[in-house]
Amino acid sequence: SPKLNQAMGIDGNTILAESLKKQGVQYVFGIVGIPVIETALAFQMAGLKYIGMRNEQAACYAAQAMGYLTGKPGVCLAVSGPGLLHCIGGMANAQVNCWPLIVIAGSCPQDHEGIGGFQEWPQVESSRLYCKYAARPPSPRLIPLHVERAVRLAASGRPGVSYLDMPGTLLLAEADEDKVPLDFYNAEPVALGHPNPVLVSQAAALLAAAQRPLVIVGKGAAHARAEDAVRKLVDTTKLPFLPTPMGKGVVADESEFCVSTARTQALLKADVILLLGARLNWMLHFGQTPRFAPDVKVIQVDISPEEFHNSIKSEIAVHSDIKPFAEALTQALAEKKFSLQPATDSWWQALQQKQKANTEFVKAQASNTTLPLNYFAVFKTVQANIPKDSIIVSEGANTMDIGRGMLMNNLPRHRLDAGTFGTMGVGPGFAVAAAMWCRDYAPEKRVICVEGDSAFGFSGMEIETMFRYKLPVIIIIVNNSGIYSGFPPDVMADLQSGGDIAQCTPPTALSGEVRYEKMMEMFGETGHLCRTVEEIETAVKKSIAVTDKPSIINILIDPSSNRKPQAFNWLTESKL
Ligand code: ADP
Ligand code: MG
Repeated sequence: SPKLNQAMGIDGNTILAESLKKQGVQYVFGIVGIPVIETALAFQMAGLKYIGMRNEQAACYAAQAMGYLTGKPGVCLAVSGPGLLHCIGGMANAQVNCWPLIVIAGSCPQDHEGIGGFQEWPQVESSRLYCKYAARPPSPRLIPLHVERAVRLAASGRPGVSYLDMPGTLLLAEADEDKVPLDFYNAEPVALGHPNPVLVSQAAALLAAAQRPLVIVGKGAAHARAEDAVRKLVDTTKLPFLPTPMGKGVVADESEFCVSTARTQALLKADVILLLGARLNWMLHFGQTPRFAPDVKVIQVDISPEEFHNSIKSEIAVHSDIKPFAEALTQALAEKKFSLQPATDSWWQALQQKQKANTEFVKAQASNTTLPLNYFAVFKTVQANIPKDSIIVSEGANTMDIGRGMLMNNLPRHRLDAGTFGTMGVGPGFAVAAAMWCRDYAPEKRVICVEGDSAFGFSGMEIETMFRYKLPVIIIIVNNSGIYSGFPPDVMADLQSGGDIAQCTPPTALSGEVRYEKMMEMFGETGHLCRTVEEIETAVKKSIAVTDKPSIINILIDPSSNRKPQAFNWLTESKL
């Protein structure tokens, strides 16, 4: 138990734990070792939930997903040196995604620093690039102040990462309890930023005059918890909208105003775009030609004014929280009696035509059940058999791209994927966090973790974490025996017999038809191997009935199955 020395003494571990609790932190994901074993125990004593994982990177992914799901930063706890360094990829991912995260690592005792201490490493400096705030509290008395600051910086403004460095000496150092300001002020949450009314009127006028208006809903709107306001805006104006990958579900994918199936056309032809909590980065093709009209006018709404005019100049830049802006704009457009009529409006007609053509292509692919199956047939079957309110975790190249269009999200913050940073290996960590969140906030809800076989390999050992914490994650591995695409076992054997094995094995290949479902046998359970639509149906149904442990469904598909031919290359050619 944490050291509560003598009558009045309190140690660094306990001060840290109590301070996190006071600031509203609920969840800590991590891996213990010297010097943070007592830290994790102190966290539990203070009433925080501690989830021990198998790799710090996955723990870091779990903590940031919890930050996104709850709006309060999750904490990742790691040991010194390599432990903290394994968190760096996770920190970068959170920072790039704008998700709130706090990383806390033990570090080498201060009296061993500079003389080759155990796992000694310049941890604060190493973290700096990946953080909004990185510090080592200089004394136990100042730990509460740094915790407050770490929480505030991670969660406010554009969310991101805070790092706290805790030398072994600091964790064990004692202070007089009455001199430690544990109650270091717990201020009210900062009031939402409201939009300038002049800009709201300008935005309403521009939208009302547009020929081909489009709303883009980003994951900033999901983080902002603006779903009610954005839904009302779309429903009353009947504007076509496009979600970004993790903006899916802020307004339901199944809304009649969602034009995801005509994405390319909508982006290309729109003359006015209302951009709600999304950046014009690679995911939105920089807002530039050839993917956008050269004279498109953008109304950009963001909590972070530094983001305005990035890549292209915004016509109207509104510094505001999404929710009050969407409410004010709905009001302003109602006063103008503005709403588009999909049945007669020519822009809507053009979009609907495109939607129909694209939907037909997907339908044809999905109903082709020739073996080995293609992606579309697999996702159609998965979608038809999972609960509609499931949280979908997804990663992999084709698996994530094709799954994004076919697995529906009708609720906000119900899709967690490789994100802005395109990080592979996030899936199992995200799924652990999502399943913990479900247990505490929505016990009936399920987490479906849809993984490519390559993606699963990065963090697959977190299956043990799922068993230990009895998390009923349904892991679906869409297995094409490779990265992007693979080779059937006989073709692989041929290729590898061609000479030196390291020169002859294709870099994209993984072993053919790997039996990932057998990982269940490590826990005395049986997984599901599927090749047909019927087998997938049965496996999903059986897995849904299991509520106290994870399941693995390993689906062997055609190693050469591919996505729909695209009108444009995935990344636009550089103009430099
Ligand atoms: P996506 O990947 O969905 O395109 P991005 O991560 O690129 O989304 O962009 C999200 C944007 O949302 C960021 O620029 C961020 O500053 C902004 N944002 C985050 N929270 C809020 C909020 N509460 N109100 C307004 N904007 C927000
Ligand atoms: Mg693969």
